[in-house]
Parts: sequence; C-alpha cells; structure tokens
Amino acid sequence: MIVYSLNCREGHGFEGWFASSDSYEEQRARGKLVCPVCNSRHVDKAPMAPSLAGTRKADPPAQELRKMRQFMTGLRKHIEENSEYVGPKFPDEARKIHYGETEERSIYGEATIGEAKDLVEEGIDVAPLPPDIGEAN
Ligand SMILES: [Zn+2]
Repeated sequence: MIVYSLNCREGHGFEGWFASSDSYEEQRARGKLVCPVCNSRHVDKAPMAPSLAGTRKADPPAQELRKMRQFMTGLRKHIEENSEYVGPKFPDEARKIHYGETEERSIYGEATIGEAKDLVEEGIDVAPLPPDIGEAN
C-alpha cells in the first residue's frame, strides 16, 4: 500500500491509499477519486506533499547522517579532551561540584540511568556523552 497526499480543486487536502502508483493513476483516470469534503472529482496529488511511504524515491539521508556523526564524534572528542574522566564516581563528583565541595571543573564518567535521573532531579546538569560511533565510511 502507498499513501498519497491529495488535493481537490477547491484545495481540500486528504489522503488516498492505493495498492500501487498504477492503481492511483487508474482510479484517477476513471474519475474514481472523489474529494471527501466537496465530492469534487478534480483530484490530484498535492504538489508539495512530503514524501510518504515510498511515493517516490526518498532522498538518501546519508549526507545528513554523516554530518551528524561527524558532529557527535567531534563533540565526544571535545568532551574527552576538555573534561576529567572520573569513571563510575561520576554521580558523586557531579554532586560535589554542584554543592561546591570540590573544585569546579568539567567531568565525564559513568552513571546509570537511575543515577543520572537523580542528578537531574537535584538540579545538576548532566548530559549523556554522544556514543562512540566512529567516523562514517
Ligand atoms: Zn474538495
């Protein structure tokens, strides 16, 4: 099944489900496409519709994905180079820094989801380190 965003001549937008693009063309040619709002038979594919369910070949998101990977890898590197690794002591250290019990600095380390949640609830800013996914390609 494929779904098309359709518009009638009056500008009503609706969705039409078809077995295939041929089926759409056939139903359109036979005037079987009817606007559910005004019953107009002047129905066509919405020109600016987003690509849905494979109505056309989607633009490959590879470029975007690569940019994101580069960004995340760079971010991770930046954190690793500018922060002190405290390992599993992270929740304790983050607390100490927050409450001024130790020198204020950037740290990173390990925390369970539960520990991270506790920190956030105490008003301590923590953010997950971007995953180490390596360079694309
Ligand atoms: Zn209509």
